[in-house]
Amino acid sequence: MDYEELLREAMRAARATAGRGRIADYIPALAGADPHAFGMAIATVDGQVHGVGDWERPFSIQSVSKLFSLVLVLAHGGDALWRRVGREPSGNPFNSLVQLENEQGIPRNPFINAGALVVTDRLLSLTGDAAGQVRELLRAESGNPDLATDRDIAASEAAHGHLNAALAHFLASHGNLENEVEQVLEHYYGQCAIAASCRDLALAGRFLAHHGLRVGGARLLSGSDAKRVNAVLLTCGTYDAAGDFAYRVGLPGKSGVGGGVLAVVPGRAALCAWGPALDAAGNSVAAVAALDAFTTATGLSVF
Ligand code: GLU
Repeated sequence: MDYEELLREAMRAARATAGRGRIADYIPALAGADPHAFGMAIATVDGQVHGVGDWERPFSIQSVSKLFSLVLVLAHGGDALWRRVGREPSGNPFNSLVQLENEQGIPRNPFINAGALVVTDRLLSLTGDAAGQVRELLRAESGNPDLATDRDIAASEAAHGHLNAALAHFLASHGNLENEVEQVLEHYYGQCAIAASCRDLALAGRFLAHHGLRVGGARLLSGSDAKRVNAVLLTCGTYDAAGDFAYRVGLPGKSGVGGGVLAVVPGRAALCAWGPALDAAGNSVAAVAALDAFTTATGLSVF
């Protein structure tokens, strides 16, 4: 396949969405993102890497980090995690308190905020440094030693983090946190505030397309866990719009309010697209349009 040409075609579809969507402004540090930025990258299991547009420009990965914290917990043999967090799509906004109350402190899935806080808590217990471990994994897989945490964004998240703090306290009141609330929040904000490019994230997600195998053949996840993570990504990875994402793109994927979307073509490649303007569900308008165009043109989808 001529990936370069396919990516250029996907970028044209993304550019056609110009003017649609809104940049996340719940913290000032994100509100300043360049509305015209767009990038897309592919990293194939046979070692090719291609990109278009701003594919090497770092952006705030935000909730895309939730995928990597989950992977790290599972890689540590953390199957017990599934007693503390479910695997069902939420049908509610990603930061909803209501559902957590109804389900007595067991978040619906690891990708809504409450579930991600439980995952970060577990990773903190397992390693002593959840945010640092996520960053190290991204550095190792991308081969980019400069990949870093944006401290301004982390501080801004903490300063405006009342809802996440409420979720964390609610989890703690149900006995579903092992560490102090403040510590868990600090690591959660730290992982969300990592800055990475489409290139970095496509490379970092490639093991999910390769049945859990890292570059060089070492195993990060069992084949079975890689399949399971892809399944949870497909059903829960794109906020309350996972159905629409599956319909349009047809791939497991994880989005973040920084405008990045990482998607996995099992057996083949990882893709990452980025554009800061978001739709009402919180997914990047341009990134979803680009992935939609790419899978439509290539037929590369799980369906
Ligand atoms: N740090 C953000 C929050 O917890 C992440 C939002 C997101 O990307 O979904 O509100």
